Amino acid sequence: MPTSDFDSILGSLDGLTEQMTDRTMRWSAINSGTANLEGLAQMADEVTAAFTEAGFEAERVPPAPVTEVNDKGDVVEIVRGEACVFRANPTANRRILMTGHLDTVFPKNSHFQTPVIRDDGTLHGPGVADMKGGICVMLEAARAFLNSPYADNIGIDVILNADEETGSHASAALLARMAKEADIGMVYEPALPDGTLAGARAGSGHYTFTVRGLAAHAGREFDKGKNAILGAARLMLAIDELNGVRDGATINIGVIDGGVATNVVPDTCVVRINVRARKTEDLNWVDAEIRRVHEETDLGDGITAELHGGVHRPVKEMKGGTAELFQLVKKAGGDLGIGIDWAPTGGCCDGNNLADAGLPNVDTLGVVGGKIHSDQEYAHPESFVPRAKLSLLIMLLLASGKAPWPKRLDV
Ligand SMILES: [Zn+2]
Repeated sequence: MPTSDFDSILGSLDGLTEQMTDRTMRWSAINSGTANLEGLAQMADEVTAAFTEAGFEAERVPPAPVTEVNDKGDVVEIVRGEACVFRANPTANRRILMTGHLDTVFPKNSHFQTPVIRDDGTLHGPGVADMKGGICVMLEAARAFLNSPYADNIGIDVILNADEETGSHASAALLARMAKEADIGMVYEPALPDGTLAGARAGSGHYTFTVRGLAAHAGREFDKGKNAILGAARLMLAIDELNGVRDGATINIGVIDGGVATNVVPDTCVVRINVRARKTEDLNWVDAEIRRVHEETDLGDGITAELHGGVHRPVKEMKGGTAELFQLVKKAGGDLGIGIDWAPTGGCCDGNNLADAGLPNVDTLGVVGGKIHSDQEYAHPESFVPRAKLSLLIMLLLASGKAPWPKRLDV
């Protein structure tokens, strides 16, 4: 597939590195941790202005209600930020869904707030790779496409949600609904530091156990107490027995809260675990086993456990339309002189949700960078324009009929 027809369109992105870097830095300086609703609203205003200027119609979608178990074991409602939806050519038959997230893992009180360009030219700051830089890549690719002669051939929908980093619970229904109306998905998580894209992705589940016993004074009435921490320990040892039973299915006992003082028998203990599995059947198996162990384990006299949560990111497999789409990405990369490779990962993202709704998608079309979710996060500004060209060429090949549309996935 020669790119010559598209050379001038692709060339319109040349010279944008500085502008994209500046915008990424401005957005990075706005704290938008998932719980920082003010910062998220400011980011929503920023992206709305930018995408509207690029030719999209804008809409805000309120978050779905989400509950969480707090440290005391009580179920409480959590309010998330609004999602932004942008649409171009809303009546077109063929549609591309581009998705990204406005939130970062860095809370309002994080010490990591200020973006800088280091001496070696790398951009360092919260969200520069994950994924404020990625949103800039998406924006410039979409803008150039909408300015091209192929703009009217297809529709483009964009979702920028505000709770991806905590599992997209408040935006999952929106993602699923719009994924069902589209033909392919393009997600702007960062590529790996060497430019490799994520291929298959493990599925994931979060589970919270609230273990309840009975409080008592450790000196005066020790025998009357029912120790919730001990009950939780018995349960977790039984859960941990599931590790190693099936290849590729793992359970991490990650967080524990319980007890108030050493002289009080604890009446509450909250334990949070995360599961990962690379195959749907393994994820279903581990989900069922956790529920079985919860039912069957003897926690001790008078001690009970409540289970909350479940699978929130289904497994994304490299097959069918997703495999076809990767071949298209590889060809587009080849035409642009960008080597494209992909590797399976235990991480998960909204690409899992899109695949679960039947949408073939590639989910690491963002910038090249690394050390994400740490205060060493960085991005390579020289990757911004090539990555925008990659997305633009994928859109041009499909919109011009030069590449076949991947088949939707059987779900
Ligand atoms: Zn991300």
